[in-house]
Amino acid sequence: MKAVAVFPQKREVRVITDAPEPRIQSPTQVKVRTREIGVCGTDKEIIEFVYGSPPPGSDHLILGHECLGEVVEVGEAVRGLSRGDWVVPRVRRPCPHATCPPCRGGHPDFCITGDYTERGIQGAHGFGAEYFVEDVAYLHRVPAELREVAVLTEPLTIAEKSVRQLERFQDRLPWKAGPGRAVVLGAGPVGLLGAMALVRRGYATTMYSRSPKPNAKAEASEALGVPYISSKEVRPQELVRRVGAADVIYEAAGVAKAALETLKALGPNGVCILTGVPSKEEPFDVAPVLKDVVLGNQVLVGTVNAADVDFDMALEDLRHFQARWPGGLERLICARHSPEDFCDVVTGKKSGGIKDVIRFI
Ligand SMILES: [Zn+2]
Ligand SMILES: [Zn+2]
Repeated sequence: MKAVAVFPQKREVRVITDAPEPRIQSPTQVKVRTREIGVCGTDKEIIEFVYGSPPPGSDHLILGHECLGEVVEVGEAVRGLSRGDWVVPRVRRPCPHATCPPCRGGHPDFCITGDYTERGIQGAHGFGAEYFVEDVAYLHRVPAELREVAVLTEPLTIAEKSVRQLERFQDRLPWKAGPGRAVVLGAGPVGLLGAMALVRRGYATTMYSRSPKPNAKAEASEALGVPYISSKEVRPQELVRRVGAADVIYEAAGVAKAALETLKALGPNGVCILTGVPSKEEPFDVAPVLKDVVLGNQVLVGTVNAADVDFDMALEDLRHFQARWPGGLERLICARHSPEDFCDVVTGKKSGGIKDVIRFI
């Protein structure tokens, strides 16, 4: 079958046509026909060979971790899914160690050993092939009305895990804090989906992103009723004067300096959630930032990956977002491409929009 694969030793990325079609090998497995794969910065790092690893014994890794597919066959013990259902798979699988409480408790997103696998990223083939087989425990059923947008489920789970944890951080305050003000840093798909999740939970949300208006991301943000402010035009101190100090910063830019500078817009007792992975070190004087963190009782938290509850909540939120902002999610998916275009899409030669998607059939 056809698959998009990266060969790290040969430094090659290409479509292969001789990948063995996977077969159901246990009664709880499900065979899925891949419909769509979302591409993101993680894929870019993998094809630039800075990240990612093939399964043990394989010279290549099949890419693709943001997936929407259709069930074509179910094992005899599978309940709750049948042929013709559409599903999204989770990405991370637990490490094997008895000494890892999060993995043993069903939360590999908090794994402490680092020996987890991630489909399409680390040690396990991804979903960027005509078919894949997965245990039913890692699949989430997609309602029919969400099929056009459900490829956004996985990137939305980053926000779902964040807002779920955010409630815990707010609980630490000795009084009941209202939702307050949020600033989202970075208007890519993770930022825009994060803005939707924050607005839904009552935060007065502002998008803070590099490119000056007009641009497609600013339009997508403002279509949600979320004002867009360019960080090139407005410094964080001025941002505070315009919209007030943030109770929450949701960082989705992956640029360390931008994240640290934006902390100047975080108010007392505020929470900064970091979701982007900075790719290179940049010199920056962190002392003033850390001083404010201490004197302001602030919380800085990193978050990665997501749990099963976050996938369920993402699918529920997608339904809510569709009703609240008709066309708002569709606007994020700027183009659908063929698997042969994967490389050009990931490297930006064939995109330039918000979220690019590879369509398999
Ligand atoms: Zn991704
Ligand atoms: Zn673990």
